[in-house]
Amino acid sequence: MAQPSSGPTGGQEPAEESTWWTNHYRCPCCRHQWDDGWDAQVDDDCPECGMRSISAYFSDDGSGTEEERLRQLERADAELEQEQQLEAAPRPGV
Ligand SMILES: [Zn+2]
Repeated sequence: MAQPSSGPTGGQEPAEESTWWTNHYRCPCCRHQWDDGWDAQVDDDCPECGMRSISAYFSDDGSGTEEERLRQLERADAELEQEQQLEAAPRPGV
């Protein structure tokens, strides 16, 4: 068997490069809000009422300034608020 002629074999990515996300959640059931750090954008369970598989409505990867992230979070927060108000609105005829 011939040896590879040159260079590293490759194929290995440095593990420390993975992004650390801060995921922000709001429970659609009891409206409890919390955030949690993960190395992925994952669903979480509500620590208050135990509702499962709640998707993060906002995830930040720690890039940008604190102020930028805060502004993005506020916007995502307002959008979610609107969405949930629409969902909570009584639907006639159902
Ligand atoms: Zn809840």
